[in-house]
Amino acid sequence: MTLQVLMAFALARPIVSQATTQRPAVTRDTTVLLRYLGNSGWWIRTPAGSLVIDYVGRNAARDNIGPRLVALRPSELSDRPVAIIATHEHDDHFATGLLAWADSVPRGSVAAGGPSPLRPQDMRLEPRTSVTVGPARLWTIRSTDSGVGLLARIGDVTIYHAGDHARWVDEIDGDYRAEVDHLASLGMAVDIAFVPMAMGSRCNATESLRTGAMYAIARLKPRVTVPMHVRCGGVMGERYQAFADAASAAGYTAVAPRAIGEEFSYAEGRLTRRTR
Ligand SMILES: [Zn+2]
Repeated sequence: MTLQVLMAFALARPIVSQATTQRPAVTRDTTVLLRYLGNSGWWIRTPAGSLVIDYVGRNAARDNIGPRLVALRPSELSDRPVAIIATHEHDDHFATGLLAWADSVPRGSVAAGGPSPLRPQDMRLEPRTSVTVGPARLWTIRSTDSGVGLLARIGDVTIYHAGDHARWVDEIDGDYRAEVDHLASLGMAVDIAFVPMAMGSRCNATESLRTGAMYAIARLKPRVTVPMHVRCGGVMGERYQAFADAASAAGYTAVAPRAIGEEFSYAEGRLTRRTR
């Protein structure tokens, strides 16, 4: 290489880097993406940040949850702020393995309800409070099981995730309704409601649970409802579809997940199944 060429190269470098910095910014992704993570686990990704809730990952394997044992990888969370939330400590909603992820997100981005299963630096979700967790704002209620149910605002999307707040049996009807009523009293426009509608190791979809889920839909008026809390891989799809059909018959819009790892887009009040 001649001296002239070397000098030309040296002079050219700042021009090249300047051109690089002046390149138009890449258009931001405006898609709201949802991915079903199994049982009551969901990943909701908005342009402003994402929310991982009740993801149990590999712990779910013993519950015959299906072939996709890992439905979300930490590397998928690295391009925007994230809130990692467990509604309570039961092992169909929380896995200690999740805390390995917590090391890579800023302080204040990890929270859980129920008897504190988390590290000392993480947030504990108390019932009937409003807190900010990373990019998400939460409004909580006391679950009829353990921990909390909640409304979460992430980006422009508001979700209701019941955790294990459900009308498990008729006898708890009053407690169940009171907490749903509390969230309804906040007057927030709910985009998507995630409601438990099955219980136990056989994932029974009981009339009591369905009554409770329908009550939550009627009070919170989500644009779309998604059934959850079926961990029996063999009957998952049919249980969810039966609930969605019942909700539709009652005049509501509901979408039934078919597989763990399945993705959906949400826009203008519509939840659309994506093909991967
Ligand atoms: Zn549960």
